[in-house]
Amino acid sequence: MTDHPRIPLAGVIGSPIAHSRSPILHNYWLKRYGIKGHYIPMDIAQADMAEALRMLPKLGFVGLNVTIPHKESVIALADIVTDRAALIGAANTLIFRSDGKIHADNTDGSGFVANLRQNAPDWQPKSGPAMVFGAGGAARAVVAALIEVGVPEIRITNRTRARAEALRSDFGAKLTVVDWVQSAHCLDDVATVVNTTALGMVGKPEFNVSLAELNPAALVNDLVYTPIQTELLTHAAERGCQTVDGLGMLLHQAAPGFERWFGQRPEVDEDTRDTVMGL
Ligand code: NAP
Repeated sequence: MTDHPRIPLAGVIGSPIAHSRSPILHNYWLKRYGIKGHYIPMDIAQADMAEALRMLPKLGFVGLNVTIPHKESVIALADIVTDRAALIGAANTLIFRSDGKIHADNTDGSGFVANLRQNAPDWQPKSGPAMVFGAGGAARAVVAALIEVGVPEIRITNRTRARAEALRSDFGAKLTVVDWVQSAHCLDDVATVVNTTALGMVGKPEFNVSLAELNPAALVNDLVYTPIQTELLTHAAERGCQTVDGLGMLLHQAAPGFERWFGQRPEVDEDTRDTVMGL
């Protein structure tokens, strides 16, 4: 009898999921490295999550990416949660281990830093305060990563102030909460600016905080990548700031999962970017 090794499957779960660029990315890498495997988008309702996570490994799945609205709830369904995923309170990468255990990790923070290191190699995170706009799931990953790379002070501002206060109490004394309407006046000495809000995304209002007082030496990063060139990045560049778009974070956060599932560390380069942008 011939032994037929199983073709490994991975995918992304969320709802809705049709907009996700992850299948294009992972299937590009699978082809590029000649790996027999498939990566599939799956629209799974919250109520079906536990059953889906029980069944998918039996169907040949080796892991998953997780997106809105499941990033927080999968933590409770996992057997092993990395420290960083627990601190952030959300996971974006699951590994179905051979012993049946589900391992949950969050690679958004490392993807965020890898994007800045690749596209702004001169970035000096320790050289001054960071200003983070937003206090949702992505902000938690960004704040954890900024603390890890040694940013001396993090100013956090959010439309709903209570969510920024919650980050302050979870992440500690390096964080200062700034009122959203005051945020434009706290930019003159910052070294790093990150937009983690949905503002500027296709279908959402534009990022509306004035950059008139923004330090021209600051590095400005927008997590929004639809469109790639947001108004925030355009206005920051007009002030002389170095800017980095959000697509690289999407690519870099995907790499560790791909490596764990398929045994190959994928490269994030221009070809990868062009493929995901549909060029
Ligand atoms: P989330 O948890 O839903 O948080 C959304 C954030 O946007 C909150 O801070 C929210 O403020 C703010 N916001 C939404 N509408 C606003 C408005 N009209 N005015 C002011 N603030 C507004 O979502 P998330 O997961 O953190 O994601 C946030 C953004 O980051 C999204 O655009 C997402 O696509 C992007 N992202 C990108 C990557 C990447 O790889 N590049 C990774 C993760 C996320 P309130 O608290 O006041 O509602």
